Amino acid sequence: MLAVLPAVLIAALQQPATLTIGSASARAGQSASGFIEVPAGADAATRIPITIVRGAQSGPTLAVIAGTHGSEVAPIIALQRVRALIDPATVRGTVLIVHVANLPSFLGRTIYYSPIDGKNLNRVYPGKPDGTVSERIAHAITTQIIERADYLVDIHAGDGNESLRPYTYWSPLGLNARADSIAREMALAWGNDHIVIDTTRPRDVRASVYTQNTAQLRGKPSLTTEAGYLGMPAEEMVQRNVDGVFRVLRYFKMVPGEVELVRQPLFFERTEVLRSPATGVWHAKVERGQSVQKGALIGLLTDFFGNPQAEIRAPFGGIVLYVVATPAMSQGEPMGMIGEPRLER
Ligand SMILES: [Zn+2]
Repeated sequence: MLAVLPAVLIAALQQPATLTIGSASARAGQSASGFIEVPAGADAATRIPITIVRGAQSGPTLAVIAGTHGSEVAPIIALQRVRALIDPATVRGTVLIVHVANLPSFLGRTIYYSPIDGKNLNRVYPGKPDGTVSERIAHAITTQIIERADYLVDIHAGDGNESLRPYTYWSPLGLNARADSIAREMALAWGNDHIVIDTTRPRDVRASVYTQNTAQLRGKPSLTTEAGYLGMPAEEMVQRNVDGVFRVLRYFKMVPGEVELVRQPLFFERTEVLRSPATGVWHAKVERGQSVQKGALIGLLTDFFGNPQAEIRAPFGGIVLYVVATPAMSQGEPMGMIGEPRLER
């Protein structure tokens, strides 16, 4: 007859003594930093800097990822601070920190796309072991981070060209009620009071496209968050991202302290990314976070000489979640995003 073991003991036995990911190895009660190597393939090699925080007590695994887009820097600086502040002796479970998912984009100071293969890392998940470098990074993060995690936060900011006010994407898919509802609570725990509900993400695990969606389709509650702007580590935005990580850690009881949830969230079901009708020079006429009425002037597109090409107006009333605040503009690129809030859900 089998002895019945207490759940806590089973969890402890299932937790291997040492967790190794890439060149980082941590035992219970330790932190360790190192790199996941992404070997050269069709194009150049890269590496992914990570930290494993292995709590003294067993518990869930939370993955936090910064630098999916390399010029979204407030989250990158925030995770350096999280690493310095977090004490594995007080942690229950494991925190997997990906400091800069997309090192080619960070070091190359590119927006949206990798300087090596021209792809958007947040559009190629779950990745391919034999693909181009963005696909190989995605594959490494899927297999070495996401598959080990119970929960995930992919931490974004306004890119180098985007003036953004903080908000979070909650992406319920209707496939897994538990994952959808825990993700909603994670959004309230993270702390951004503006929450965009995005039900449009793909349902095919083999073509999950986004980092967050790769976790969600594996039944792991997850978020994409946004805080920071214009390629700068503004102090308030860095701190907001640090606070978000610790608020989610407290929500999962992975660190001690009171759970705090956003009291009066603004949910957005209707949002629209405005895309440029032509290539030219963009003159933004609104600020991040500004309230606009239907028909309000968002910005003016001119040709390279200054002749007006198009007036871009708000398609409905709402809040400017982000506006592109730098002049370079190509046809089809985002100029900004408007959301129409609703008070209750
Ligand atoms: Zn991003």
